[in-house]
This record gives sequence, C-alpha cells and structure tokens, in this order.
Amino acid sequence: MLAERMNHLGTETAFEVLARANALEAEGREIINLGIGQPDFQTPEHIVEAAIKALKDGHHGYTPASGIPPLRQAIADDLNSRHDVTIEPNRILAVPGGKVTMFLAMMIYGEPGCEILYPNPGFPIYESTIRFSGAKPIPIPLREQNGFAFSAEEVLSKINERTRLIILNSPANPTGGVVPRGEFNALIEGLYKWPDVAIMSDEIYGQMLYDNREHVSLIGYPEITDRLILLDGWSKTYAMTGWRLGYSVWPEKVAPHAEKLCVNIHSCVNSSAQFAGIAALKGDQSPVKAMVSAFDERRAVIVNELNKIPGFSCIQPGGAFYAFPNITKTGFRSDELQKKILEDAGVAVISGTSFGEHGEGYLRFSYANSTENILKAVDLIKGCL
Ligand code: PLP
Repeated sequence: MLAERMNHLGTETAFEVLARANALEAEGREIINLGIGQPDFQTPEHIVEAAIKALKDGHHGYTPASGIPPLRQAIADDLNSRHDVTIEPNRILAVPGGKVTMFLAMMIYGEPGCEILYPNPGFPIYESTIRFSGAKPIPIPLREQNGFAFSAEEVLSKINERTRLIILNSPANPTGGVVPRGEFNALIEGLYKWPDVAIMSDEIYGQMLYDNREHVSLIGYPEITDRLILLDGWSKTYAMTGWRLGYSVWPEKVAPHAEKLCVNIHSCVNSSAQFAGIAALKGDQSPVKAMVSAFDERRAVIVNELNKIPGFSCIQPGGAFYAFPNITKTGFRSDELQKKILEDAGVAVISGTSFGEHGEGYLRFSYANSTENILKAVDLIKGCL
C-alpha cells in the first residue's frame, strides 16, 4: 500500500510530450521540438573545464549540505552586485536544481489546513507540490490583458488567516510575462498587514529579459527579508539544465530547517558541479549575453510568425524563452490542438492547460530552437490547420 499523499502528486506534461515526440522519432518521423524548456546551447567551455579540473583535483567526496563555502560566497557576491544588497552566505543553500527549492519550501510551509497562492498558468510543479504537502492551492489567475502579470490587488484579496505562502514567478514560465515594478511595490505594501505570510520568488529566468526591461528581484525589498525565499539557479542562465545545480536564499531563521531537509534528502550537491557553479558566476558573462540576444532575435521571429497562423494571436513575451499564443479562435481546445500539432504536423508544443486551468485557450511554444526550425514548424502548423 502506498501513502495517501501519493494520490496528490502531479507531474510535468512537458516530459510526457517529449516521450511521445521521441516515440514518433523512433518510428522514423521528423519532429521539431518546441516543447521542452531548456536552452539549445551548450554550457560555456570555461564552466565545463572548471568541473573537469575539480574532478582531477580530487574533489570526489561529500561537501557540506549547504554547499562549499566559496560557492555560497560567489552566490552572495553575485546577488549583492546585481541587486545592490548585502546577503550573507549563511542564508544561502546550494541545491540540486531550481525545482528542489520548491519542494523544500512546500515541505517547510505547507500542511493540511493552510493555503498557498500560486500563479496559474504557472510552472506545474508549484501546484503539484502544494497538494503533496496537504495545503490547499489557491490560484492567482494570470491574464493576457495584463501581459500575464499578476494584479497585486487580486493577490491581496485572496489572502486570509490560513494563507502561509505566496509563490511568484517573473519572468514567467509558461507565458514569458514580466511583472512591472509598480505591481510588486503594491503587493509588498499590502503585505504589511499580513506579517506571517511568506513569499517564494522564482527568479530562474531573471537574466532573460528583453527590450531593456529591468529585473525586479524581491531580494531588493528589505522589508520582506525575514519572509522571502528566493529561488534561482544555473539551469537557464548558463545552459546547465543537466548539471542539476540551483540555489535558494532563505530567511535566516528558516535556513537551518531547509538545510536539515537537504541532509535528509540528498546530503549535498554533486561536488564538481559546485566548482562549475563558481566558474559560471565569477567568469566571463559574454556567453550569457550572446544566448539572450539569440533568444531575442528568435522571439521577434516566432511572435511575428505565430500571428500569421489563422486563429492564433500572440502578445510579445517580455522575458524567458516562451511564446504563449491565444488559440481560442481556432475552435480547438488547447489539449486537442497540442495533440493535433504533434501527430499531424510533427511539432511538439505544450497545451496551456498543462500549466493550470487558466491556461485553457493557449499553447506554449519554446523558442529555444533555431530560427530555421521555428519557421519550418510554423509552416507545418499552418499546413495541418
Ligand atoms: N522554475 C521555473 C519557472 C522553471 O520553468 C523551471 C524549469 O523549467 C524551474 C524552476 C526548474 O529549474 P531546474 O531545472 O533548475 O530544476
């Protein structure tokens, strides 16, 4: 018999679409994958070299559960210089990927009887882990007419004495939406009335912004230092999804609890990956800029092309590497269209409903693929519709 809580754990449909796409490829079909959320770039060479060197230098053993001290210091230095703050390394935890911070936060804050607010459409693991913790998930609807940013007024209206945690994500998956500073200011101001409500800010796409948009990090609001969990990592910024390396910043009193969970789950992050993480933060940032500028060019192409498909309309995403077109005028439901486009056109995309019920009427296209493939994919979709 399995524990009852296993009935509440969800999953990430992107991996299911990937499996189906691979199966079609194995049958000899050519598939263009605009489904998976990872950069189509290699990890920069100097980062790979740092990991190889660490292995050759004999770094083969366990490290402290919270990460090696030079890595925590490098993270603190990076945050302090980018956001003009003073974060001490004792609040920082190195973890095996961005996702792990979500799980830790839900285990620390979630339990039956409490409520956790989360963006919808949003990264599916938020809702899944909230449910797994026994807490009640309360969606924060993100709407196209607001550029898929939350409304501070609406978020505040959903808070009550049962609310334990609010999850925020800007720039966002799956919409590419970016929340303007004014909305964050209004939310933080409103939260004065709710001093016991914690905030988890997922800023994993924080360095992928376009049209000179600024990244508003919640780490820059000193008034919420004692209740902020910052989620970030290397997966997207440095094209390191397979390295499994992320980090979080915790309120000082909560950090030891998060660390204790790490000791119980994974002991520590792979040690050579930690050395790679230092090289990424301290080394040349030009590969990051080059990758973001390539995404920016493709963003222009994909949005323009999607808007030419009958029944599609797509707003400009401000960050990340996703376009989230409205497909209601095609007459198809999102999941039907996802299936049709994969089976008939050979293009893998993700139904908006994989990111929550407010994703109905949309599809997620990842533009972490070549311009040539994007153009070909749109042609194939037009043909099949
Ligand atoms: N947060 C968001 C919003 C994401 O889109 C993703 C990955 O797609 C993650 C976190 C997880 O990142 P990682 O691969 O480092 O676990």
